[in-house]
Order: sequence, then structure tokens, then C-alpha cells
Amino acid sequence: MSYFDDLNAVNVNEHTEKKNGLTYLSWAWAWGELKKRHPLSFYTVYENKDGWNYFTDGKTAWVKTGVTVVDELANLKIEHVEMLPVMDTRNRSIPVEQVTSFDVNKAIQRSLTKACARHGLGLYIYAGEDLPEDAGVQSDQYKEGQPYPTVTCENCGEQVKPVRVDGKIKSVQDQVDGTKKTFGKTLCRKCAIEEWTGGHDRPV
Ligand SMILES: [Zn+2]
Repeated sequence: MSYFDDLNAVNVNEHTEKKNGLTYLSWAWAWGELKKRHPLSFYTVYENKDGWNYFTDGKTAWVKTGVTVVDELANLKIEHVEMLPVMDTRNRSIPVEQVTSFDVNKAIQRSLTKACARHGLGLYIYAGEDLPEDAGVQSDQYKEGQPYPTVTCENCGEQVKPVRVDGKIKSVQDQVDGTKKTFGKTLCRKCAIEEWTGGHDRPV
């Protein structure tokens, strides 16, 4: 198993927080998990030429961080760099003159967590965003020409809803077909991911 597969297989569901429809992974927890597995790993908060911990084009601001996974036994030293705009709670860029050190700090933590995800840890929570409930109907109408069918998940009993995965709509029928093929039963997106991280193949 590669270090990426190992990190990618970690179930992070208990360590996430939902804000404004987006799922966030706890930075402190993610870093702890990574260090447990690869204790020599380190992270970098990049500074601009004046030594500030954020960058600006005069209008908006962004941060640049890197997470380097180091494992001498595995002869491994890989850095993934992540740049992230400094955003408000609605995920819109904050004009640079209004940026506070608190906003920058939050962006740095999110950026570092995303850099960990590039190494595999919690990557799946970035792979798909749940659609808002009412937008789901429209998206399947768009695809199928009719409202989505009522199908329940065989694990949790919740209704299977269309989701957005890698920017594309995955209809209820796509999910039924995919999870039947991969897991032998109909699963909602959440349960499919749970099954997958439990050692199965990625849901198709
Ligand atoms: Zn389910």
C-alpha cells in the first residue's frame, strides 16, 4: 500500500464540520493523523518578499502553504503546495483592506488541511460537494427530463439524492447503478463513501 493509499483510506467523517453547505476537516486532527504515521513530516507557511504570511494583488489576498510528508524508511519526501484565497464565512474573497489576522490564520489552516488532502488524507470530502436539497431536483430534471426517483439507501434508509462529484451531476440512477455494481446494494453517497473507505473500491 502506498503512503497515499494509506492516508486516503482513513475515515475522517467524525472529524468534519459543516459550514454553509461545505464540509471542513479539522486541521489539528488532520495534522495529528499525518504526524502519527510520518513523524518527520513538516509544514511551511510561505511568506511574501516583505515577510507577510499572505499575498496580495492589491484587491484580494491569498495564502500559500505546503505540507511535506517525510518518511526515511520509505525514502519519501513529497511536498504538496496549496494556495487559498482569504475568504469570509460565505466563501467569498475579502477585499485586502478588510483582511484581519484572524481571516489570514483561518485561511492558512484551511489551506494546510487541503495540502494534507493532496497527500490523500480526507481527499474524498473535497472530491464532491453535496448539492443543496432543492437544487438536486433541478439537476436531475436537467439530466433526465423529470424529477429524480424515490430510492432509499440500503444502509441508512435515507433517500438517495443527486450529488455533484468532481463538478459533474451524478443522478440517482447513476448512483444506484454504480453502488449496485461496486457494493452489491443501493447506497446513498455518504454510505458509499463509508463503504469505500472501509476498504472497498471507490464508488463509480
Ligand atoms: Zn445511506
